[in-house]
Amino acid sequence: MGFNESVLICDEVDHILIKILEDNGLSVSYEPEITAQQILEKVSNFNILIVRSRTIITKEMIDKADNCKIIARVGVGLDNVDQNAAKEKNIRVINAVEGAMNAVAELVLGLMLSLARQTTRGDRAIRNGQWLKKELKGTELRGKYLGIIGLGNIGKRLARLARGLNMNIIGYDVIPIDEEFSKEVGLMKADLATLLQSSDYVSIHVPLLDSTYHLLDAQKISTMKKTAKIINTSRGGVVDEDALYEAITNGTLGGAALDVFEKEPAVGHKLAELDNVILTPHIGAQTKEAQSLAANVIGEKIIQILRGVI
Ligand code: NAD
Repeated sequence: MGFNESVLICDEVDHILIKILEDNGLSVSYEPEITAQQILEKVSNFNILIVRSRTIITKEMIDKADNCKIIARVGVGLDNVDQNAAKEKNIRVINAVEGAMNAVAELVLGLMLSLARQTTRGDRAIRNGQWLKKELKGTELRGKYLGIIGLGNIGKRLARLARGLNMNIIGYDVIPIDEEFSKEVGLMKADLATLLQSSDYVSIHVPLLDSTYHLLDAQKISTMKKTAKIINTSRGGVVDEDALYEAITNGTLGGAALDVFEKEPAVGHKLAELDNVILTPHIGAQTKEAQSLAANVIGEKIIQILRGVI
């Protein structure tokens, strides 16, 4: 059965998504450079809106989207879509949680290894004509304690990968963590205070909510080991970046790796002054495999919704 809905794709996506939609009869306008003003002007012509992270779907846009049935985010976090406004207008908002799981977890492993061995610092030094062999005495991940805050899709995947490196995993979540998984990775469940005091690495995998804004603030960071390192690949606002800067500068925290920032792009960020900090430009889900998986998932979900299956 073919459909005749019209779709506006507002960000760059894997072309498999366009193919799935067109093969099912939908007409697709692919406008990865579209501006907010242009969306406002034409949004009423479309039944389905698709975004990644560049485009922010505002209440103003949704108010004008009189024919819209679905807003889809080819990714995980839904903080760039005004979900309350969509709900009021009876528009389904969907995402693709499966896509990024492995990509983000692998990035965290890479960041932990880089923090432990200071590979980015060594690389920078060589490019500047310095051979820092003596200064770059690192540590190993084996046997270290990794505290994971938020054991959803990404947190669980990370635990499994880190277990393969013989790290000890401490986990904290606001919902019960399933027993089978806990046994599999030898998880030590803890409250947040214990996790922070005991971990050599703390990796955060919670959504950005009012309750998680500055979840790691100056007070909580001050309870961590002096050598501990924080890795944030979740959302910028979850860690207080000023507090992080202070703690690392004062030597009360060992370092950090951030893929996400309160304000992006984070070019010129003051954390870039610090040697024991690694900054990446929100590349957690930026792999061929993750983008293609998310595009497939969103394509199939849209078709199933139109068929009335989900
Ligand atoms: P998920 O929904 O599967 O898991 C989130 C977990 O956090 C849940 O188990 C939830 O109970 C828990 N949680 C919520 N509030 C908490 C709190 N206050 N304390 C402890 N745990 C809490 O989500 P996911 O797919 O694992 O994604 C996690 C995060 O990663 C999201 O913020 C998402 O936006 C982000 N993300 C980033 C990138 C990137 O490019 N860097 C890519 C994908 C996802």
